[in-house]
Amino acid sequence: MLCPCFSGKKYVDCCKDFHEEIRLPDTAEKLMRSRYSAYALHLTKYILKTTHPKNPTYPVDLPLWTQQIEKFMKTTTFENLVIHEAQNDETTGVVTFTAVLKQKRHDTSFTEQSLFEKVDGRWLYKDGIYIN
Ligand SMILES: [Zn+2]
Repeated sequence: MLCPCFSGKKYVDCCKDFHEEIRLPDTAEKLMRSRYSAYALHLTKYILKTTHPKNPTYPVDLPLWTQQIEKFMKTTTFENLVIHEAQNDETTGVVTFTAVLKQKRHDTSFTEQSLFEKVDGRWLYKDGIYIN
């Protein structure tokens, strides 16, 4: 199966090792891609694990958050991921991407500039701003 992050690689050669924590993504872009494919594969725990505690959506109420994330995953089809720009230094990264999504017949795609931070050797999703 091709990786749901739309890298064009096989899942086993792309995000699978990250999801199973065999390896850690070494760039912000790889982490971002692995989060997108985790959404597509309904890997809720991976989303939680890769969210920075300072992210505004970081769950205060874990059961409620889990419910919301799972509802989003189940009602969304993850149609494409386009990375426009990605850069990172040792501890911070910025990735601009378009997530092509559909909910029922509605196009719910968005473009975001995401900020990532490396904490204890792991890249985490810290924050994002929508771009039009
Ligand atoms: Zn992938």
